[in-house]
Amino acid sequence: MKTQRLGRVSLWVQLVFAVGLAIAVAVGSVAYLFHRAVSEQYASQIRGQVRSEVGPLGGYLASVAVVDPSALQSFAAELASREGARIVLFNGTTQNSQNKVVDTDPSQSWPPPSGFLSFPLTLRGTTLTGYFVIPDPVTSYLRQYDAALARTLLLPSLIGFLVGLGIILLLTRRIVRPLSSMTNAARRVGAGELSLRVPEVGPPEVAALALEFNTMASRLAESQELRQALVADVAHELRTPLTVVRGYLEAIRDHLVEADSNTINTIFDETIHLQDLVNDLQDLAQADAQELRLEFGSVDLRQLLASARAEFSLEAQNKGVELQVTVPTARLLVIIGDARRLAQVLHNLLGNALRYTPAGGRIQLMAAAAGNVARIEVRDTGTGISPEDLPFIFDRFYRVDKSRARGTGGSGLGLTIARRIIEAHHGTIEVGSELGAGTTFTIDLPMQAEAKADNEPPVA
Ligand code: ADP
Repeated sequence: MKTQRLGRVSLWVQLVFAVGLAIAVAVGSVAYLFHRAVSEQYASQIRGQVRSEVGPLGGYLASVAVVDPSALQSFAAELASREGARIVLFNGTTQNSQNKVVDTDPSQSWPPPSGFLSFPLTLRGTTLTGYFVIPDPVTSYLRQYDAALARTLLLPSLIGFLVGLGIILLLTRRIVRPLSSMTNAARRVGAGELSLRVPEVGPPEVAALALEFNTMASRLAESQELRQALVADVAHELRTPLTVVRGYLEAIRDHLVEADSNTINTIFDETIHLQDLVNDLQDLAQADAQELRLEFGSVDLRQLLASARAEFSLEAQNKGVELQVTVPTARLLVIIGDARRLAQVLHNLLGNALRYTPAGGRIQLMAAAAGNVARIEVRDTGTGISPEDLPFIFDRFYRVDKSRARGTGGSGLGLTIARRIIEAHHGTIEVGSELGAGTTFTIDLPMQAEAKADNEPPVA
C-alpha cells in the first residue's frame, strides 16, 4: 500500500527527496560526531583546569575558618564574586540546610540545579565540607561550538544539495525522458501504431528496455502481419475449391452439366481438399495454442516407414519415380512418440517429394540410429529449392511457386505443422536442397523420450 502510494510520486521528486535526506543524514552525523568528540575532549580538559584552580581556594578558606571563623562568610563571598562562582560550606559531612555554614548564593537550591557543576573543596584542619559551584562551562562552550558548527556546515550542505539537485536533474532527464517517450510509444503501439519504434538511448538499463520494447513492437507487427496474411490466405484457399463446387452445382442445377460420376468425383475431391485445409488449420491453431494433442507410445520406426512406403508406392510407380526405403536391421528402432502424428509428417514429406520429383527420379526414405538419436531422412532428386526460398519453407502458407495451381500442391501448411509435431517430440527437422539436384529433409528424434508415455501432451 505504502509502496503503491510512493509509486505515484514522480521519480524526480523521489530522487530530490532522497538526495535531501542523504545530505541531511551525512551532515547530521558529521555534526553529531564532531559534537561528541569535542564535548568529550573539552569536558575533561575544562574540568581538569577548574579543579586545579579550585584546589588552593580550599586552603584559603580552611585557614580563615581556623583563624577567624567570623570572617568566613565575607571572605567566601569575595572569593565567590571574584571567581564568578557559588561557594557552599557545610559543618561536618552532612549536606543539609541546617548544617549549611556559608552559601554565597542562597537563592539557588542545593544540590546544585542542572547546568551547574560542583567541585569539592579540600578544607584540611577543619570540620567543614565545601563546594565550589559554577555554571557548567562545557555546556555553554558546546552551545557556542554547535552554533559555529551549524554555521560552518550550512553552506557546504546547501552547495551539496544544489549540486545533488543538478546531478539529479541531469540523471532524471536521461532516465525519465526515454521512459516517458516509451510510455507514449507503448500507448500508441497499443492503439495500433505497430510500426512505431523508440530511440535506444539513455543509461544501459533504459537502453536495454528500449531495445526490448522495439523487439516486442516488431514481434507484434510481425504477428499482426502474419494474422492478416493468414486470414487472407485462408480466404484465398477456401475461395478456389468453393468456386469450383459452386460452379459445378450451378451448372448441374441449370442442366448445363450432367451429374455423372466424373462431376461428382470432381466435387468430392474439392470437398476433400477443403476438409484437409480445415484440418491443417485446426492443427496449426492447436500448435499455436500449445495444445497439439499427442498420444505417446512406443513407435517402431521400421513399421512407420513400411506404412509410408505402402501408402505411396503405387503413386510413385504411376509417376515413374523410384521409392527406396532403407532401415537398418541390426538395431531396434523404437522411440516414444505419437505414431499417427509422425506418420502425418512422413506423409507430408513424401507427398512433397513425390510432387516435386519428375518421372525417372528417385525418393529415398531412410531411418537410422546414432547414439540416443533416431534419424529419419527423406531425400529426393526433384526440382530442389532455391537458397532464397529455403529459409522460409517452414513458414505457414509459404510456397516457392506463388502462382502454383491448386492442383499441384497442398495448402502450404504441411511443413509448418510437420515442424511443430517434431518439436513437440523434442526433435528437430532440417532441410538441405540444391536447385535442380534435389532436396533432403532430416528429422532427429530423441530415442529415450522423457516420461511421456502417460499420454500427457508435451509442451509444444
Ligand atoms: P504444401 O502444402 O504447399 O506442399 P508445405 O508446407 O508442405 O506446403 O511446403 C511448402 C513449400 O516448400 C512447398 O510449396 C514447396 O514449394 C516447397 N517444398 C517442400 N518440399 C519440397 C521438395 N521436396 N522439393 C521441392 N520443394 C519443396
